Amino acid sequence: MIPLKTAISIVDEKIGGRRVPTEKIPVREAVGRILAADQFSKVDLPPFDKSAMDGYAVLEGDQHSRLRIEGVVTAGDPGTDKLLPGTTVKVMTGAPVPPGTARVVIVEEAVEEDGHVRFENPSPASNICKKAEDVAVGDRILKAGVRLGALEISNLISCGIGDIDVARPVSVAVISTGDELVDSFSNLSRGKIMNSNGPMLQELARKFSMTVTSEVSVTDEPSKLTAVIQQALREADMVVLSGGVSAGDFDFVPQAIEEAGLQIHFSRVAIKPGKPVTFATNENGILFGLPGNPVSVFLTFHLFVLHAAARLSGASYEPKTFNIRLANDYTRRSGERMVYVPCRITSDGFAEPVIYHGSAHLAALMQAEGFLIIPIGVRSMTSGAEVPLVMFGSRFG
Ligand code: AMP
Ligand code: MG
Repeated sequence: MIPLKTAISIVDEKIGGRRVPTEKIPVREAVGRILAADQFSKVDLPPFDKSAMDGYAVLEGDQHSRLRIEGVVTAGDPGTDKLLPGTTVKVMTGAPVPPGTARVVIVEEAVEEDGHVRFENPSPASNICKKAEDVAVGDRILKAGVRLGALEISNLISCGIGDIDVARPVSVAVISTGDELVDSFSNLSRGKIMNSNGPMLQELARKFSMTVTSEVSVTDEPSKLTAVIQQALREADMVVLSGGVSAGDFDFVPQAIEEAGLQIHFSRVAIKPGKPVTFATNENGILFGLPGNPVSVFLTFHLFVLHAAARLSGASYEPKTFNIRLANDYTRRSGERMVYVPCRITSDGFAEPVIYHGSAHLAALMQAEGFLIIPIGVRSMTSGAEVPLVMFGSRFG
């Protein structure tokens, strides 16, 4: 059994310089994709000194208490020349202010009368957004390796960027193993269970913008397993399999992985749940054998599969963890493994484990907002102790 850190560094080492190819696509179509090159702004933001409010432009140094209104500048207008002392223009939010404008007095602090305006206790605020105060031409707006969401897309667009280089989505083939699995409720009979891992893995992969080339289930027969793994290796960048990697009599997956021409690099990691997680590669192929229990699948997908997918796309993957206080005392019998405890966050900011019967208890995860991480060697913690929490889960990612 190896520590998680060691396992992750083995994944990094074995994936090494393997990368999916890049492609150029319009920014608008790039949501979820990984940026392949740094991006630099083509414009200043704001592009000119602009009014932050509806109001009246006041020339620097102008001491007049009444100003003659020379016109109105709305957002989209090119703007006016410099003001003369004693004059103003009415400027709308987003409009360019005349050169030399010191501030904009907002309409709420002004009274208009016969073509003039006077101010009543105006605040000293400038109410001007200065040219390039947010972003200057040539500023790096995003670094290669970033995953693009709505904010990144809108920032790129506001900086005048049209087409970008991104990584081609990582493709995965999903395999569920087990004689007990059925894919339809009408086939459910005593001894059988619904295959929930396949759909979970497919949807998690899609959520993180991977493409799923196939999602199949296969019985615990070594030759069938080998054939299915070989087919999966041909069609996808990465094979994600669940079940059959523990020490049971029908756990033929390790043997099938090797018969499919892969080399296993680890098959026991000191985490709970998820201990039998298995990692194998050959020259072109990458395979994760996740344990069969659904909570283990969910956790090890986030710990390993996302890590590998990020690496293949040239992104970094550092799941956000932060310290939070325990709501209750925590004890366990053995400190051999790092434990991930599904928990929710109380309204007063404590981490409270959800009711959880073990790694088969998929329903428990719907109550959880993250996992507390109990380090190796720690067997008890008292309420109020600070513990790292990692926010894996469909309700917050
Ligand atoms: P295994 O790792 O194959 O020994 O499976 C461990 C447990 O997970 C067993 O109770 C299996 O029935 C269950 N399991 C395995 N694969 C799936 C699946 N695709 N969907 C739901 N449960 C599964
Ligand atoms: Mg099985």
